[in-house]
Amino acid sequence: MNADEATLGITIPSTLEAAARDLASKRGVLIDDLVASALHEYLHFSPSRIYQISTSVALVEGINSGSISSSTLLEHGDFGLGTFDGLDGEMVILDGEIYQASGSARRRSDDFPVPFASVTQYCEEAVFQINQITSLADVEVACDRYRPSDNLFYALRLDGVFGNIHARAVHPAQGGAKLLDAAQSQLEFHYHNVEGTLVCLWSPRYSSSFSIPGYHFHFLSKDRTKGGHVLNCTAGQLRVGVQTISEYDVQLPKKGTFLKADFSKDPASVLAKAE
Ligand SMILES: [Zn+2]
Repeated sequence: MNADEATLGITIPSTLEAAARDLASKRGVLIDDLVASALHEYLHFSPSRIYQISTSVALVEGINSGSISSSTLLEHGDFGLGTFDGLDGEMVILDGEIYQASGSARRRSDDFPVPFASVTQYCEEAVFQINQITSLADVEVACDRYRPSDNLFYALRLDGVFGNIHARAVHPAQGGAKLLDAAQSQLEFHYHNVEGTLVCLWSPRYSSSFSIPGYHFHFLSKDRTKGGHVLNCTAGQLRVGVQTISEYDVQLPKKGTFLKADFSKDPASVLAKAE
């Protein structure tokens, strides 16, 4: 054994051990090397990656029953946005917990299938403050200065006290309802003088078949009881953290209506209206 090597005694499921030995023998490498490289990949997991379940075009076309479990989603990130089975509310992922928001918010600690969501391991690279926010457009203009490119993805976290928040939540849709129909019967609500967080992902225009282009904000109150998709807001002062994202990992549904649906239409105009 070399000076820079160590012995690790661990207990793992026997099926995992068998699979690892099998793969090592197929590749003609030592089991030690195989486990070391798997562990290396896990430990040095890039913080600048989005992990996404399904695509925005599938959501627009009404593929809104869950395909990947929420526990798998949380293995890939602690911060993000999404929706629920049948478009039943807005999903906020904050500090490693999932909240279901439709005016009131509640934490989901169970394991359930998710139809569409994007998460990242939030790791802010820059922090700045914005003041005297009279609209969501003000927030966007202020954040634009901290996005050096229109061709990468960004995660932004905005914390503070909001004078007003105008938010909405999509209604639970009947099976297969398209996003635009669900958005047209949305619930809207207003909060006043509420402390909380805007969870935001910014996606490039070219990503419209996969993601939701531009800024996408969901709100969660500090006491975790209120939340929704943000349409407008005002605030005196907000603390903003930003993370640049250059890796994009999409998990597509492997069964169900996703396989036969027609995704030939560009969803950009529907997303601009519905999101
Ligand atoms: Zn939303």
